[in-house]
Amino acid sequence: MKSYLLACIIPILLAASASTPEYSIQAIRYASSPNVPVSELVIGAPKDEKIEITMVIWLIRGGGHTILFDSGFHRDTFIKDFPVTDYLRPDEAVRLAAVKPEEVTDIVISRAHWDHLGGIDLFPKANVWIQKEEYRYYTMDAWQPGGQHGGIEPEDAKQLVQLNTEGRLRLVDGDDVEIFPGIRAYTGARHTYASQYLRVEGNPNFVLASDNCYLYRNLSFHMASATFSDADHPANIAAQSRMIELAGSADRVVPGHDALQFQKFPTHGRIAQIK
Ligand SMILES: [Zn+2]
Repeated sequence: MKSYLLACIIPILLAASASTPEYSIQAIRYASSPNVPVSELVIGAPKDEKIEITMVIWLIRGGGHTILFDSGFHRDTFIKDFPVTDYLRPDEAVRLAAVKPEEVTDIVISRAHWDHLGGIDLFPKANVWIQKEEYRYYTMDAWQPGGQHGGIEPEDAKQLVQLNTEGRLRLVDGDDVEIFPGIRAYTGARHTYASQYLRVEGNPNFVLASDNCYLYRNLSFHMASATFSDADHPANIAAQSRMIELAGSADRVVPGHDALQFQKFPTHGRIAQIK
């Protein structure tokens, strides 16, 4: 009888512990960048049109986790070539949402580019999640003859290896992988070698696209974001359609660098309350 009861109760307990918390999602703007040619973000857009883009970290809280999606940057290597305004270091930006840097439990990295990966060393206790192929490529093949490492900061690649030796690196292996209860990572087109985006399940679902979709315009005009190679453009457009499906509405796909997310959702200062 006892074992029968246990057999009944254990699955119920397991189901309860794995249930999806109702996560909150905030977009935190840590900088802006003026005069970016739209044609670099939306393939096929007019060459002479320029816009101000936002540099964003997304904060997801729930189920005992304080998760950042992307980590911004703080090294000045790229600032010369890519001028930013209104810059606030990512750990200071996160404090505006009443989160201390050491309270961040996890950072999910969409891609290894400097403006997404470069802040991982500002959060001393966080585990860092990255696609396994992205890690492998940018700590190895990218620096070999024929490799591509444009936009990758060598110090960031070293930091990834360092985190791995400390047991703080979590490798996500491929598409449609649940990494926290109700938060799944997806791959699609190769924005970098193996970039990923997230769906946060809840009432309702949201997709955080990062640079797999730069602007709302990519979604509404079905135009590709810049990708690892031109051959990946059709895959990027397909990935954007899939994002809309996964979110249940184009309104709930949050693009990576679009300032409109700070108008579309209730915003105070640098923080938009997406959910
Ligand atoms: Zn970016």
